[in-house]
Amino acid sequence: MTKNKAFDEVLEFIWSQREVGSSSITELLKIDEVAEEADMNTLRQMMSDGLVNIAGDSITLTKEGERHAEGAIRRHRLAERLLTEVLALPEDDIEKNACSFEHTLSPEVADSICTLLGHPPTCPHGLPIPRGACCKKTRDDLKPIVQQLNVLDVGDRGRITFIASNSHMRLDKLGTLGIVPGSTVKVHQKKPAFVILIGETTLALDPEIIKEIYVKKID
Ligand SMILES: [Zn+2]
Ligand SMILES: [Zn+2]
Repeated sequence: MTKNKAFDEVLEFIWSQREVGSSSITELLKIDEVAEEADMNTLRQMMSDGLVNIAGDSITLTKEGERHAEGAIRRHRLAERLLTEVLALPEDDIEKNACSFEHTLSPEVADSICTLLGHPPTCPHGLPIPRGACCKKTRDDLKPIVQQLNVLDVGDRGRITFIASNSHMRLDKLGTLGIVPGSTVKVHQKKPAFVILIGETTLALDPEIIKEIYVKKID
């Protein structure tokens, strides 16, 4: 973590601005949360600390800044997933708590949360969660609470926790089939096609879709 919490916040916003294709300082300083914590002087100080590069109206992350931003974004978005899906907090509380979480979680705790949640690729807003060391290797000492549906065996039942899809069309389609967070599905067969049982209905689902459905296994 950088010595300055405000720096971390600003680095995160530089990161998320980049996700929407902007590196403009003018645009960055217009964001309320940034304006509260930082001004041009803060950005210059961050430059002399080696966290950002400034050229005209453009601000970009240095390698060091990138490392800090990636960690903070990862902790923030994992916290959002945890608070939304597992703890089911009301939306207002989520942002507040996700923000304080990201400054206190160690990388190790973040990796444990990531593992428990089945290494979710996105936050509840559909934004990518940067991968951690845990996403590359499997751990035997931690049993995930949430898993991709394709991991379950035939006969297993799971309650849908979230669906990690950015396609509204797909989410709508799944919704009309009753495949929404909260509903219970049973794996009916896995080969040759993946077939689930939802209520009294059997449904064959595309392998791509199966991987986007995250469930809590019911014992
Ligand atoms: Zn989010
Ligand atoms: Zn992970």
